[in-house]
Amino acid sequence: MGQGLSCRTSEKKELFSAVQLGDLETVEEVLKRDSSLIHHTTVYDRSSALHVAAASGQIEVLSLLLDRSVTPDILNRHKQTPLMLAAMHGKISCVTKLIEAGANILMFDSRNGRTCLHYAAYYGHSDCLQVILSAARASPVAASWGYSRFVNTRDGKGATALHLAARQGCSECVHVLLDNGAIVYASTDRYGYPGSTPLHLAARSGSLDCIRELLAWGAERLQIDAAGRIPYTVALRRHHRACAALLNPSAAEPLVWPSPLKFITELNHEAKALLERALMEANREREKAILRGTVYTSTSPLGSESRIEDNASEASETDLCCICFDQECTIEVQECGHRMCAQCTLALCCHNKPNPTTSCHSIPVCPFCRSNIVRLVVAKVKTENEKDSDHDVNFTKPQKSWRSRKSSEGSSSFRGLSGLGSFRRMSRGSGRIAAENEWVDKPLNLDI
Ligand SMILES: [Zn+2]
Ligand SMILES: [Zn+2]
Repeated sequence: MGQGLSCRTSEKKELFSAVQLGDLETVEEVLKRDSSLIHHTTVYDRSSALHVAAASGQIEVLSLLLDRSVTPDILNRHKQTPLMLAAMHGKISCVTKLIEAGANILMFDSRNGRTCLHYAAYYGHSDCLQVILSAARASPVAASWGYSRFVNTRDGKGATALHLAARQGCSECVHVLLDNGAIVYASTDRYGYPGSTPLHLAARSGSLDCIRELLAWGAERLQIDAAGRIPYTVALRRHHRACAALLNPSAAEPLVWPSPLKFITELNHEAKALLERALMEANREREKAILRGTVYTSTSPLGSESRIEDNASEASETDLCCICFDQECTIEVQECGHRMCAQCTLALCCHNKPNPTTSCHSIPVCPFCRSNIVRLVVAKVKTENEKDSDHDVNFTKPQKSWRSRKSSEGSSSFRGLSGLGSFRRMSRGSGRIAAENEWVDKPLNLDI
């Protein structure tokens, strides 16, 4: 009897080590000898073979076990599912496979009351996060719980996945979560210090990238935690000087992604990426000024004056932005079809920081024709033929003349021009911009 038991134990050991190593042949062989071993668990935390396969990313073994009708939501001692372990270790193929096999994404472990989403966020696996979020969008969870409720699910200490990602300093996870509707100003219960926002936690971790992301999504620098501290104080205490400089409430406000605007939330992927990049670049310019300790007195919310991007504009002569005369037109406003660069589009949309407590957002209008912006799309690059037959449309002509003057006179005067605030540049840029635009400064006298 005793011999039988030890034989069983050694077979179990053989199975688990084969699962961990992804030795499919041995796994099959051991299970052929004793198929009941599939339901055995490890001694200490009572993990199943499926847990081990998921944690070590052994996709073939995992598939075999699932094929032999092992339930994907089997629990170990801490009520962790194999999906949680796969998300914890960043085993993306196992995460995908388990979800395909019907694993429940809305299970909570008994350790910290966390879901697989918390696991992926805490351990910094943005790819797993993405897969879980798309599953949540498509699964019954969205219908019963609500998608946004799932994204903002709290663990046992009141931390959302966004809190955990910010605390761990994973800016990519922070970005994915914010992009999927994570609430930027949520406060924790007991996690971190009570009442911490994701910005407090990013300040603690000293992650500049997370702070950038959070500020660009409208995180409030003046929100206090239960101890009455703002994120700035938290960063100072931990000696994260650069973070503190950005969090200092008296430093210039960053541009904020205008997510509540209808046409921004409905943007296609390409246009969104363009605008996001432009926003981060603009904020980086602002940061440089703050970190240098200089007073940031730009009249432009773009703050990109110091950048001279002649190379970029040289490439496509006729598609130069009519507002800044600095960047290529990459965004087309619809319905009117007017074009401008991503930076200028953002300057229009980010003029007023969206207020999270009210749903009132003024709809930006096209600076050329004053019609409401219904949609933003990526401007298609025109072929030579299209350009020639396009003279009566929009601003092809003024652009051409401007460019030809530019090339004939050299760029010195334009460098001077690019040293001015973009909004000033806007006003000089086109007489066609409606004069009543509130953000248009006095026109500059730059006749040359
Ligand atoms: Zn522009
Ligand atoms: Zn227009």
